[in-house]
Amino acid sequence: MNETEGLNVGQNATMPEIVQPSTIPPVIISPHLNLKYQSPKRVPFGGSLTNKILGGISGADLSRLLPYLECVNLTSGQQLNCLGERIDFVYFPETAIISHIYFLGDGSTAATSIVGKEGMVGLSAIFDSPPPTHWIEVTLTGTALRVSSEVIKREFHNGGSLQHSLLDCMSARLAQVSQRAVCNGCHELSQRLATWLLMIHDRAQIDELRLTQETMANHLGTRRATVNAACTALRESGIVSYRRAAITIIDRKRLETVACECYRVL
Ligand SMILES: [Zn+2]
Repeated sequence: MNETEGLNVGQNATMPEIVQPSTIPPVIISPHLNLKYQSPKRVPFGGSLTNKILGGISGADLSRLLPYLECVNLTSGQQLNCLGERIDFVYFPETAIISHIYFLGDGSTAATSIVGKEGMVGLSAIFDSPPPTHWIEVTLTGTALRVSSEVIKREFHNGGSLQHSLLDCMSARLAQVSQRAVCNGCHELSQRLATWLLMIHDRAQIDELRLTQETMANHLGTRRATVNAACTALRESGIVSYRRAAITIIDRKRLETVACECYRVL
């Protein structure tokens, strides 16, 4: 009995041809946006490991990675990839926070995920996925440890604790993206803003977050005026204070009561 018997495939039936695209479809970006990859500046590493993935893997796995890790300073608004090109480096945020952002043809934007010290940016490089169609942008200035995609891919395929941690990271990322899709479609902006601020606060570990209202609007996929109204409501309630390009979390407990249920998942 050959492999096709029992599959009810007719003699003249032909299997559909799977066409692999030779190139990634171009992503249309509004021409007024000045987006381009900006190489981060290397800085001395302080020696205290904050990233939970690197801090949680075995000593043997970490010592194999250490010679290849570079500490870099990342600046808010900095772009870490080029659309349509493969990722050369993956980033383990220390104090920086990095987001995945989609830019639409009309220039509007929305963020799909936030990555801080709990994760790694550049998972697609490990799995040989096509280049991402989103931008990888720094949301909060800080440091990260980076390593070349080739090195992290090699170490991932060695198995061990690093592979386990990166698979956990992938699972958490999928959960975050899924939940944010639901959140964007079902919850009010005031709730989504509170959830987003709590997510940033968890990763930043500081109360004063250097964020502009434009950044908040870009991440939440809305207009700056709408974000301004939501920020004003939080400020008048005594939950946050706000000055130019910085929002300070004053009453985190009450901010949690404003946030939607998604925060408990994210
Ligand atoms: Zn929500």
